Amino acid sequence: MAAKLLEGKPIAENIKMALSAEVAALKVRHGRGPKLVAIQIGENASSAVYIKAQKKCAESIGIDYELRVLPETASQSEIENIIVGLNKDASVSAVIIQMPVPKGIDSKKLLSMISPGKDAEGMHPENLGKVLSGHYNIAPCTAMAIMELLESTGVNLYGKEAVVVGHSEIVGKPLALMLLNKFATTTVCHIATGERGALPEHVKRAEVLIVAVGKAGVVKGEWVRDGAIVIDVGINKVGEKIVGDVEFDIAEKKASYITPVPGGVGPLTTTILMRNTVEQFKAKL
Ligand code: NAP
Repeated sequence: MAAKLLEGKPIAENIKMALSAEVAALKVRHGRGPKLVAIQIGENASSAVYIKAQKKCAESIGIDYELRVLPETASQSEIENIIVGLNKDASVSAVIIQMPVPKGIDSKKLLSMISPGKDAEGMHPENLGKVLSGHYNIAPCTAMAIMELLESTGVNLYGKEAVVVGHSEIVGKPLALMLLNKFATTTVCHIATGERGALPEHVKRAEVLIVAVGKAGVVKGEWVRDGAIVIDVGINKVGEKIVGDVEFDIAEKKASYITPVPGGVGPLTTTILMRNTVEQFKAKL
């Protein structure tokens, strides 16, 4: 059986269309619209790609996008002062700090200094806490993008065996909570699972498999359960090609749905960042 491709772009386009209409209506009603401020510290080729995509996506929806570029040498306290200023600025709806930040900068502290009401990425401890309770509008963008992809399949997650590979704070952990909120029976695998050699046995059980590790081929195609939904979050450069974490060619013959890399989770993540920005704007009205 060849899997159906779960592409992020059509879902992202639908969300963008709805957001554009909502933002236009908000501007008519309130005389102003949402504004997202991105802070970039130093130069970084990969974050330059994300910034370009964010700007394009924001503009297509009607969200004001401002990029604040700080030098590589900016100190922790200088960056913190900028965040304090943005927190006080009533014209700013949401703030994102582009990762990675230069060595010596405490990114966790910066994320927790953004007011929870201006947190675009859903990474403030207060917003992460709301994911735990299951009542939230703002949440980590990639995890929400994955939930959108799963929802698009129409498959009910209730009681399903879900396996998440990777337990980062930005993807794996919040995603595991979201799956639990949908009553999926959720297993989280991480480096120790891999080191113990137990990854294949968990992956083989998965009716819903999400892999967010950042190592090409860490999940072998032959481990994928027949009929599984496979969401591959990984982005890895192998030679000139971008590939995911799952051996696609074999996995796609076994799965019912599988995300392409690139073209799966990626196109949706930026759109969810914009949805978070609009939610933050609305919450302050
Ligand atoms: P991360 O912070 O490096 O987390 C990777 C996770 O994988 C960690 O929990 C790590 O465990 C675990 N891990 C490492 N080796 C393993 C193994 N052999 N078996 C099982 N687990 C293993 O990375 P991330 O930020 O979550 O991102 C993961 C990947 O997704 C990257 O390729 C990134 O580029 C991609 N990504 C894509 C999007 C998108 O929008 N498409 C968004 C975010 C991330 P330990 O921490 O215990 O070592």
